[in-house]
Amino acid sequence: MSWNILGHERAIQFLQIHSQPENVRHAYLITGAEGVGRETLALAFVKALNCINPPSKGDFCGVCQPCRQIEAQAFPDLAILRVAEGARELKIEQIRAMQQSLALAPYQSKYRVVLIPDFQRATLGASNALLKSLEEPPARAILILTADARESLLETIASRCELVRLRPMRIGDLAKELQERHELSEVESRKLAQLAGGRVGTAMHYLRDEDLLEKYHNALDQLDEILNLNLRGRLKYVENLQRAKGQARENYGFLIATWLTFWRDVLICSEASGVPLVNLAMEDLTRRTAAGLSLQRVASILKRHEEALTMLDQYVNPRLILENLLLDLPRLES
Ligand SMILES: [Zn+2]
Repeated sequence: MSWNILGHERAIQFLQIHSQPENVRHAYLITGAEGVGRETLALAFVKALNCINPPSKGDFCGVCQPCRQIEAQAFPDLAILRVAEGARELKIEQIRAMQQSLALAPYQSKYRVVLIPDFQRATLGASNALLKSLEEPPARAILILTADARESLLETIASRCELVRLRPMRIGDLAKELQERHELSEVESRKLAQLAGGRVGTAMHYLRDEDLLEKYHNALDQLDEILNLNLRGRLKYVENLQRAKGQARENYGFLIATWLTFWRDVLICSEASGVPLVNLAMEDLTRRTAAGLSLQRVASILKRHEEALTMLDQYVNPRLILENLLLDLPRLES
């Protein structure tokens, strides 16, 4: 299968059918959590629409000129409209400029496609402006929106799009796929799948990162230190992180997801359920932590971490999320 995308079989089938000229519609909305693979799927769809040498119906070759240009995001009939660097929202002016080009005939292919990732970040004005394109779609134009959830968009917009809903894979399923496709050990693939929360894109991102394992162990070492710090020390820790280079949202997401694997292990110890631990190197700290906390407390800490990850996806201030999370953690006496 040329789509070669992990998970999302039903979504792929749906888009393969829709890539045929007799089935194609004017607008699509792909929803799912960040890292679940929304944009990868959207680009595969654009390839299926434009491939000049498809191996079979609804597929694409991946090597013809359109396929390669789309992969490089340099295809003349594909515009990708993103929130501007440093901005938080997609602006009405961006939508208006896009609409002017959308009205033109395709340059070299059957369709003119506009992909707008993260449309939940559009301002109300931008949303209303886009509505015009959905109500009176230009001929041979296709709009593809992605968003975290259908509910984050105006109903008038969502209801005019073909909906493709993506969900994270089950941890076990993703681990199995990772193990088979990427020659990872069972433990490694399980750890990676868990760290990515079943989100394929996030898992791939981690997989390409050669320093990942080191970062992972660093994150756990930092947690070990944090648990010994008082409130002031913890605030100081966040302040230092803020000064570090890189994207806070991504970095914090990684930290919290890593710590989540530790707290899951603590819960396993508390419940004495006999499930194998993920972080064997931390076994000592894990058992000590479990011994000092009630099962209820551990469960609540786990929940707080999961909530923090959700909030990060929703563009709440990352620093605030991390501070709240750390201030709530118990202090362990070493
Ligand atoms: Zn092709």
